[in-house]
Amino acid sequence: MLRIREGCYQFMIQDAFRRFPNEACGILAGKDGLARTFFAMKNTDESPLSYLMDPKEQFHVMKHIREGNEEMLAIYHSHVASPAYPSSKDVQLAFYPDVYYVLISLQDRSRPVAKAYRIQEGHVREEPFKVIPEESR
Ligand SMILES: [Zn+2]
Repeated sequence: MLRIREGCYQFMIQDAFRRFPNEACGILAGKDGLARTFFAMKNTDESPLSYLMDPKEQFHVMKHIREGNEEMLAIYHSHVASPAYPSSKDVQLAFYPDVYYVLISLQDRSRPVAKAYRIQEGHVREEPFKVIPEESR
């Protein structure tokens, strides 16, 4: 199960708000299924309807993650006016069967919703995840 450090989780939610009304996107990295490092990524689409990471920036971040002995655990992006469920374009562009796709919905901005999925060969499966307080292991 994906676990996300509280601080990392909060950064992600804040990033989604900060980049509203466009979609935000980023990468969560960590070890042993525990995401603890957050990378906000540029949305080259600069759109409220879709996101696309810059391959060069992504390459750079992936290198940084490896050098820190971590791995990419999840790719997150926000939906500003639709539920936290992958769009057909999201499914088409889900190239990593082994990472989680975290969706943040700001449809109701007073109550952001976060959900995690695996997307494999066009199939979307919701996965439970846990937010882990900073002090615990
Ligand atoms: Zn989407």
